[in-house]
Amino acid sequence: MMTDYDPNNIFAKILRGEIPCKKVFENEWVLAFHDIGPKAPVHVLVIPKGAYVSYADFSAKASSDEIVGFTRAVGHVAQMLGLEENGYRLISNVGPHSGQEVPHFHVHLLGGGPLGALIGR
Ligand code: AMP
Repeated sequence: MMTDYDPNNIFAKILRGEIPCKKVFENEWVLAFHDIGPKAPVHVLVIPKGAYVSYADFSAKASSDEIVGFTRAVGHVAQMLGLEENGYRLISNVGPHSGQEVPHFHVHLLGGGPLGALIGR
Protein backbone atom coordinates (compact mmCIF):
# COMPACT_ATOMS: atom_id res chain seq x y z
CA MET A 1 0.00 0.00 0.00
CA MET A 2 2.57 2.55 -1.12
CA THR A 3 0.96 5.19 -3.29
CA ASP A 4 2.54 8.54 -4.03
CA TYR A 5 1.88 11.32 -1.57
CA ASP A 6 -0.82 13.77 -2.65
CA PRO A 7 0.24 17.25 -1.47
CA ASN A 8 -3.37 18.44 -1.82
CA ASN A 9 -4.80 16.09 0.81
CA ILE A 10 -6.69 17.82 3.60
CA PHE A 11 -4.05 17.24 6.30
CA ALA A 12 -1.34 18.69 4.04
CA LYS A 13 -3.55 21.78 3.74
CA ILE A 14 -3.93 21.92 7.53
CA LEU A 15 -0.14 21.63 7.94
CA ARG A 16 0.35 24.52 5.50
CA GLY A 17 -2.20 26.61 7.39
CA GLU A 18 -4.53 26.75 4.37
CA ILE A 19 -7.45 25.39 6.37
CA PRO A 20 -7.95 25.70 10.13
CA CYS A 21 -7.89 23.02 12.80
CA LYS A 22 -8.57 22.84 16.53
CA LYS A 23 -4.98 22.39 17.60
CA VAL A 24 -4.14 20.34 20.70
CA PHE A 25 -0.35 20.15 20.42
CA GLU A 26 2.43 21.00 18.00
CA ASN A 27 6.18 20.59 17.96
CA GLU A 28 8.83 20.26 15.25
CA TRP A 29 7.70 16.72 14.38
CA VAL A 30 3.92 16.62 14.74
CA LEU A 31 0.61 18.42 14.77
CA ALA A 32 -2.26 17.08 16.90
CA PHE A 33 -5.82 18.37 16.47
CA HIS A 34 -9.41 17.41 17.19
CA ASP A 35 -11.11 15.18 14.61
CA ILE A 36 -13.89 17.07 12.86
CA GLY A 37 -16.28 14.10 13.27
CA PRO A 38 -15.49 12.73 16.72
CA LYS A 39 -16.21 9.00 17.30
CA ALA A 40 -15.52 9.22 21.06
CA PRO A 41 -15.69 11.94 23.74
CA VAL A 42 -12.01 12.62 23.00
CA HIS A 43 -10.95 12.06 19.38
CA VAL A 44 -7.66 13.61 18.40
CA LEU A 45 -5.55 13.02 15.30
CA VAL A 46 -1.77 13.06 15.55
CA ILE A 47 0.04 13.56 12.25
CA PRO A 48 3.71 13.82 11.37
CA LYS A 49 4.77 17.04 9.64
CA GLY A 50 6.54 15.01 6.94
CA ALA A 51 4.80 13.78 3.78
CA TYR A 52 3.96 10.11 4.39
CA VAL A 53 0.92 8.22 3.13
CA SER A 54 0.75 5.33 5.56
CA TYR A 55 2.33 3.55 8.49
CA ALA A 56 4.52 1.49 6.15
CA ASP A 57 5.58 4.61 4.25
CA PHE A 58 6.39 6.47 7.48
CA SER A 59 8.22 3.59 9.16
CA ALA A 60 10.28 2.88 6.03
CA LYS A 61 11.15 6.43 4.97
CA ALA A 62 11.07 8.73 8.00
CA SER A 63 14.32 9.48 9.83
CA SER A 64 14.91 7.97 13.25
CA ASP A 65 14.45 11.44 14.77
CA GLU A 66 11.05 11.80 13.09
CA ILE A 67 9.93 8.36 14.24
CA VAL A 68 11.04 8.99 17.80
CA GLY A 69 9.52 12.48 17.73
CA PHE A 70 6.19 11.16 16.49
CA THR A 71 6.06 8.22 18.90
CA ARG A 72 6.87 10.41 21.89
CA ALA A 73 4.36 13.04 20.81
CA VAL A 74 1.50 10.51 20.67
CA GLY A 75 2.27 9.45 24.25
CA HIS A 76 2.62 13.07 25.32
CA VAL A 77 -0.74 14.06 23.85
CA ALA A 78 -2.49 11.12 25.55
CA GLN A 79 -0.94 12.23 28.83
CA MET A 80 -1.77 15.90 28.23
CA LEU A 81 -5.41 15.07 27.58
CA GLY A 82 -5.66 13.14 30.84
CA LEU A 83 -6.27 9.81 29.12
CA GLU A 84 -3.65 7.75 30.95
CA GLU A 85 -5.77 7.08 34.03
CA ASN A 86 -8.76 5.45 32.36
CA GLY A 87 -7.19 4.51 29.08
CA TYR A 88 -7.52 5.14 25.39
CA ARG A 89 -7.13 3.51 21.97
CA LEU A 90 -4.78 4.24 19.07
CA ILE A 91 -5.87 3.44 15.51
CA SER A 92 -4.14 4.01 12.19
CA ASN A 93 -6.11 3.25 9.04
CA VAL A 94 -4.20 2.22 5.93
CA GLY A 95 -5.77 1.72 2.54
CA PRO A 96 -9.18 0.68 1.25
CA HIS A 97 -9.94 -2.20 3.61
CA SER A 98 -9.48 0.14 6.57
CA GLY A 99 -11.55 2.93 5.06
CA GLN A 100 -8.64 5.40 5.18
CA GLU A 101 -10.06 8.72 4.01
CA VAL A 102 -7.08 11.00 4.23
CA PRO A 103 -3.85 9.82 2.57
CA HIS A 104 -1.49 11.46 5.08
CA PHE A 105 -0.30 9.07 7.80
CA HIS A 106 -2.10 9.69 11.09
CA VAL A 107 -2.99 8.08 14.38
CA HIS A 108 -6.45 8.41 15.89
CA LEU A 109 -6.31 8.85 19.66
CA LEU A 110 -9.67 7.91 21.16
CA GLY A 111 -10.78 8.06 24.77
CA GLY A 112 -12.76 9.94 27.36
CA GLY A 113 -15.20 7.06 27.94
CA PRO A 114 -15.67 3.35 27.26
CA LEU A 115 -14.83 2.62 23.61
CA GLY A 116 -16.63 -0.64 22.96
CA ALA A 117 -15.40 -3.38 20.65
CA LEU A 118 -12.14 -2.99 18.79
CA ILE A 119 -13.84 -3.22 15.40
CA GLY A 120 -17.42 -3.30 14.17
CA ARG A 121 -18.17 -5.69 11.32
P1 AMP B 1 -9.08 8.05 8.21
O1 AMP B 1 -10.33 7.38 7.77
O2 AMP B 1 -8.26 7.22 9.16
O3 AMP B 1 -8.27 8.55 7.03
O4 AMP B 1 -9.51 9.28 9.08
C1 AMP B 1 -9.60 10.59 8.61
C2 AMP B 1 -10.23 11.39 9.72
O5 AMP B 1 -10.02 12.75 9.43
C3 AMP B 1 -11.73 11.17 9.87
O6 AMP B 1 -12.00 10.69 11.19
C4 AMP B 1 -12.33 12.57 9.63
O7 AMP B 1 -13.40 12.88 10.49
C5 AMP B 1 -11.12 13.47 9.90
N1 AMP B 1 -11.14 14.74 9.20
C6 AMP B 1 -11.40 14.97 7.89
N2 AMP B 1 -11.29 16.28 7.60
C7 AMP B 1 -10.91 16.89 8.76
C8 AMP B 1 -10.61 18.23 9.12
N3 AMP B 1 -10.67 19.24 8.24
N4 AMP B 1 -10.27 18.49 10.41
C9 AMP B 1 -10.21 17.51 11.31
N5 AMP B 1 -10.46 16.22 11.04
C10 AMP B 1 -10.81 15.90 9.78
